[in-house]
Amino acid sequence: ELIESGWNLDNSYARLPKSFFTNLSPNPVQSPKLIIFNDSLAISLGLDVHELQSEDGVAVLAGNRIPKGALPLAQAYAGHQFGHFAMLGDGRAMLIGEQINPLGERFDIQLKGSGRTPYSRGGDGRAALGPMLREYIISEAMHALGIPTTRSLAVVTTGEFIIRETDLPGAIMTRVAVSHLRIGTFQYAAKWGTDEELQVLADYALQRHFPEVETDERRYLALLQGVIKRQAALVAQWQMVGFIHGVMNTDNMTISGETIDYGPCAFMDTYDPATVFSSIDIQGRYSYGNQPNIVGWNLARFAETLIPLLHEDYAEGAKLAQDAISDFPEHYHANWLAGMRAKLGLFNEEKQDESLIEDLLRLMQKHRADFTNTFRALTYDNLEDNVLFGTPEFTNWYALWQSRLGRQQESKISSQQLMRDSNPVLIPWNHRVEAALEAAVNQGDYSVMERLLEVLSNPYAYTPGKDDYSTLPAQSTRPYQTFCGT
Ligand code: AMP
Ligand code: MG
Ligand code: MG
Repeated sequence: ELIESGWNLDNSYARLPKSFFTNLSPNPVQSPKLIIFNDSLAISLGLDVHELQSEDGVAVLAGNRIPKGALPLAQAYAGHQFGHFAMLGDGRAMLIGEQINPLGERFDIQLKGSGRTPYSRGGDGRAALGPMLREYIISEAMHALGIPTTRSLAVVTTGEFIIRETDLPGAIMTRVAVSHLRIGTFQYAAKWGTDEELQVLADYALQRHFPEVETDERRYLALLQGVIKRQAALVAQWQMVGFIHGVMNTDNMTISGETIDYGPCAFMDTYDPATVFSSIDIQGRYSYGNQPNIVGWNLARFAETLIPLLHEDYAEGAKLAQDAISDFPEHYHANWLAGMRAKLGLFNEEKQDESLIEDLLRLMQKHRADFTNTFRALTYDNLEDNVLFGTPEFTNWYALWQSRLGRQQESKISSQQLMRDSNPVLIPWNHRVEAALEAAVNQGDYSVMERLLEVLSNPYAYTPGKDDYSTLPAQSTRPYQTFCGT
């Protein structure tokens, strides 16, 4: 008898109208091998850690075996890629079902790299080991940083090579998400579906992500406002840790407010709003400083899809959508300011706080200071060891900050605690991630990645030890570059 590993799957997405997906049959791979497995995530999902790592269990993670209760499918969606609208869909992924955990919570279980689907277009439906491990590392680091994100349950190699510029080992990642509904899912429904199908999708999104307003008379407006608020909060959290997503196309933005699609993402080192890592982002559309604007732009595309549901009269619906969208900058700004105040240990609010923050950022940019390390150094009052701290401009700023800290009730100790909780010591530094992937992919040595994952699981409390993970690499003359689509 087959081992069932604790799978407890439902398939609510498969009960949506047929146009939203295509059922798939398994697409077996040659010889699956488990590379990395997320024990604590498995436990929280109610899965059996040991059974899932057995041969039968790994066969499920490779798409070679379909567990009881699964109904594998590829989701249909559209999206604006770098501003251009296209039909997309899961071209190399399949949703095997929704795991209901012991608390009754629902999580999509998706295999990424699982083979061709009707939405693959010219692609092979496969993924390479390096990028799948990269997604595993960075998404788990984001989770540990307290930022809403899809999670990674496991990566298996397939025993097959995929053809890119060179042959690369193939891999499949198991991605866990509160759902995979995207702005692009709504764009697909609005463009090619009926109004009824759009409404079914909106009701489904409300049920999964905003049950508190599910029965409101103005529930579609509440859906729009809810997504606006969550995305405003999310991108502010990205800004707080210097996370650069890299490919903020509308198909890569969730309705739930989780971060999704770890392709060319990377963390900013030297503070500069123009920072871009992605090799294909020539115009800097998705630069650090432009991320909030892009979220606003993407949300406007989402709002457009909902117009027919907002009011029976199109013009009235459009006005409601416009009004909701015009609130985005305010929501974002409030989240950004609250986050920055916490990073500087401020509990109360003063009008000049914003200029205090902006002055610091301007000095960081001018003196090419490291974003993460500078904030953390301020936390510790450890003012040596930073390019910024010797400058007279900084001395002035520091005096202003200190007197500002003096104008609040809270003690210096609570203020430092707030800063420690708001300024990570550890982020997935580009050189550390590269070293982990190099050892894993080229040497078959997974210990570097395992050690990195371990330290990244506690990013606010890490105390530098023998192997100091917060030491930066020597300044490279070649800028760091990331790639998507492998
Ligand atoms: P992404 O840039 O990861 O958001 O992907 C954009 C679109 O390309 C999505 O529809 C993906 O499913 C599809 N895609 C990416 N890589 C492949 C591949 N190797 N084979 C088929 N489709 C792919
Ligand atoms: Mg994507
Ligand atoms: Mg991607």
